[in-house]
Amino acid sequence: MSDRKAADVKLLLLQPAAAAYSEDIADLILTLYTRPATGQEMRVYIVGCLVLTLTASVLPQYTLLADRLSTLPSSTSPSTSPSSLSLAKAGFVHLGPGDGSLVCFHCCVRVSPTASTTEELPPPSSSSSRDTFVDRFDDIELTDRCGLGAAGSDHDDEPLRRHRRASPNCYYARLCALARAVSRSGAGAGGLGIRRLAERLDAIGDAKRYARALRKLRGCLLGGCGLSLAASFGYSPPHLAAWLTRYFMRNNGACPTRAGDIIALAHESEAQSLLAPGLLDILDIVGLLQLPELL
Ligand SMILES: [Zn+2]
Repeated sequence: MSDRKAADVKLLLLQPAAAAYSEDIADLILTLYTRPATGQEMRVYIVGCLVLTLTASVLPQYTLLADRLSTLPSSTSPSTSPSSLSLAKAGFVHLGPGDGSLVCFHCCVRVSPTASTTEELPPPSSSSSRDTFVDRFDDIELTDRCGLGAAGSDHDDEPLRRHRRASPNCYYARLCALARAVSRSGAGAGGLGIRRLAERLDAIGDAKRYARALRKLRGCLLGGCGLSLAASFGYSPPHLAAWLTRYFMRNNGACPTRAGDIIALAHESEAQSLLAPGLLDILDIVGLLQLPELL
């Protein structure tokens, strides 16, 4: 990877991943992306997971780590239970009064705050909890044989393991798991945990589907003049691209192309704060889609 390409990757991946996942996971994602042994298919897989989790989550208002953390009470017994930071890093939010269960901002799976083994609870609204386009990607199961779950020891690893068991198809939990495999296996070319996990994920097969979807998305964002016309009405092009990406991901690959329709979508997205301003300002979807050479 050339120095310039590496600088682009760092700029485009690191900041949004750090804000949404955490600084340590973002560093691991960057390491995984840039290590020589990581093939282009795996890079497509990483970008696909990032685009999905940054824009298309069920609870997008909690995409940023800080916003998830603000919902979680401090642990009363930090030596024996997961810290609120580890819960937020595993993707969980606490939605207020009720049974106290924790909810993943991306896939909306619910887990009990106290169960040591996973007890998956029904999502709060089954009709809107998952989106068809996201659902269709695949149904691969992550297991602890992938060099992750069984190797984790301290209780701060438990939230991510619990998340993966409750919702093996969650893209947020998957990318976290891949990133953690880097830290467990080392960044060198022979990271067995990463290779095993990639095989288990069938990341190459997934990447082909991701590539088709992401290529279509890039065509929607860059083809025609709708987006630039809409931007001439005062909207930031990266903000428009992020809102269009969310629409694309949650509407079976559909994407408005006329400037008037894009402006209407922008107006609605902004009014509903569909994506946090703090995320919009550091997210460059078009840049991300131009990173992997397969796209
Ligand atoms: Zn999830």
